[in-house]
Amino acid sequence: MSHRITLLPGDGIGPEVTEATVGVLEATGIAFEWIVHEALGASALETYGKALPDHILDSIRDTKVALKAPVTTPVGTGFRSVNVELRQKLDLYANVRPCKSLPGLKTPFDNVDLIIFRENTEGLYSGMETYDERHDIADSVARISRKGSERIIRFCFEYAETHGCDPVTVVHKANILKLTSGMFLSVARELAEEYPHVSFNDRIIDNMCMQLVIHPQDYGCIVTTNLFGDILSDLAAGLVGGLGVVAGANIGDDYAVFEAVHGSAPDIAGRDVANPSALIRSAELMLRHLGERTAADAVSRSLTELYSEGEYLTADVGGSTGTREFARRLADRISAHV
Ligand code: NAD
Repeated sequence: MSHRITLLPGDGIGPEVTEATVGVLEATGIAFEWIVHEALGASALETYGKALPDHILDSIRDTKVALKAPVTTPVGTGFRSVNVELRQKLDLYANVRPCKSLPGLKTPFDNVDLIIFRENTEGLYSGMETYDERHDIADSVARISRKGSERIIRFCFEYAETHGCDPVTVVHKANILKLTSGMFLSVARELAEEYPHVSFNDRIIDNMCMQLVIHPQDYGCIVTTNLFGDILSDLAAGLVGGLGVVAGANIGDDYAVFEAVHGSAPDIAGRDVANPSALIRSAELMLRHLGERTAADAVSRSLTELYSEGEYLTADVGGSTGTREFARRLADRISAHV
């Protein structure tokens, strides 16, 4: 049986890391039927008049699972982020980002092993922004709902309990944002009582940033609102080798979209230097989601070996191997393991 997957190669370094990842996935011997949609973001706006065309949403509704590379969002102007729109329209409320030290990769800390659970549909990304031209004042609404808070926090506790990932830390700014962050914190405190076997604590976001760059090993599962989660996941990526190595998954009740934490990296696009490990590790999460555990383990083991040996690494992690060669060497190793 082959898995039907919507494949979105995105732009910037997206097509390069997608090609590398597809090659690696095919080396596992699992059969895939790729439903490819190349135009997304600026290119889709030009071709279809919409940055996130309906046929892409329909394709994901049909296949239920997508592998997505990054898409550029114009800064301070232009169309709304297709990434945010996709997550909201498909109700992919849990953005799960594991940050784990890779053996052989020199970073300030060893043994970092934490997961960020970022609420993915509300908060300051709700898309409610207004501009009062007369007074030159702009407002953004940070909507937090009890339902939205409950489902991401429960998702995190369920994961923590099932995987023995301790403690659960809820990150907030409830000292200042008493109603929004305050609601998120109080829901977390209520739910913590349902999970007596999982240790639980909370941190104010600014303190959390400092704690993570001093004692990252003290943390396991971190659950937080949309903007804090976005920022903390780049910070945590920095602890384990950078954006080139950190995977992500957007999970909802009906659909799942797997994508790396990093963006389209226009500064290095088209030069065969991007690190495909982040999308490859996202694809590993996808394999686990699809129930393909043996293949996922082969990807994980082969990647760990390649990093431990340190001979063929990309430039962002101190090597000089190109995107394609890295992927080829990884694929060869996976073929030998499956
Ligand atoms: P970025 O993640 O694209 O890049 C930040 C830095 O990390 C750059 O120096 C880049 O070269 C480096 N980097 C990122 N991925 C790398 C990789 N795989 N290998 C080696 N180096 C890598 O962040 P940015 O520059 O802030 O954003 C660029 C664009 O990407 C923006 O338009 C932003 O909106 C978009 N973006 C998209 C997504 C997404 O599609 N999910 C996520 C984040 C940012």
